[in-house]
Amino acid sequence: EGRVKFDNVRFGYEPERPILKGVSFLVPGGKTLAIVGPSGAGKSTIARLLFRFYDVTGGSISIDGQDIGRVQQRTLRANIGIVPQDTVLFNDTIGYNIAYGREGADQAEIEAAARGAAIHGFISRLPDGYKAQVGERGLKLSGGEKQRVAIARTLLKDPPVLILDEATSALDSRTESEIQRTLRDVSERRTTIVIAHRLSTIVDADEIVVLNEGRVAERGTHASLLRQG
Ligand code: ADP
Ligand code: ADP
Repeated sequence: EGRVKFDNVRFGYEPERPILKGVSFLVPGGKTLAIVGPSGAGKSTIARLLFRFYDVTGGSISIDGQDIGRVQQRTLRANIGIVPQDTVLFNDTIGYNIAYGREGADQAEIEAAARGAAIHGFISRLPDGYKAQVGERGLKLSGGEKQRVAIARTLLKDPPVLILDEATSALDSRTESEIQRTLRDVSERRTTIVIAHRLSTIVDADEIVVLNEGRVAERGTHASLLRQG
């Protein structure tokens, strides 16, 4: 039994236009699956189905053996963290942006999350640290820094299932690798799904699924897929 299981999942936004045409994969607890493929392949659709923005039209999705169609949406969403490609930060402090929605979070927890998102070093060098203001009248963060704040926010929530939907694709490949590596270090229990355009930016996922036109075209490890070319 995997933690996240897609079993012959079929789905279309419109009935006459299937987007996923029988997708199956299994991600064990604590492991990382990368989903790569060209734009329009259906990668983000997989993330949306997991979060139940939509229901599958065939097959099933289960988490820890439970069909997500039978789980309360609130319970389901509490267990899944999604970091999207574009994140908008609040015009507030870095700490607030990381702790948003987690009123009880203390400084040590926030720092630990920031470490996991590979941004702690940057923040600790700022004169105001986590109290530094971001946005229009504060600090101008780069796209990569913003993404790392967004990742830290999700890490603080500590969801059993973490989905990075192209969340690191806009970053330079060194930063992207760094985040994937730190995520791996901090996540022994967490199941992670990384969605990306390019195989080249995937760092040591336990398995990689190549999606093309709504089907799993290939699967393997980074090394085995590179060997196939
Ligand atoms: P990817 O993430 O691989 O780029 P998506 O999952 O976003 O692909 O999209 C897969 C296909 O579904 C695309 O052809 C896209 O145009 C279509 N699609 C995405 N969202 C919708 C929607 N809300 N309504 C209709 N079609 C959609
Ligand atoms: P595309 O990238 O293919 O144009 P979008 O990313 O705009 O598609 O999303 C298509 C649909 O998926 C939206 O209409 C929305 O219902 C749903 N969706 C995607 N991401 C989110 C999100 N973060 N929150 C709520 N709904 C979302």
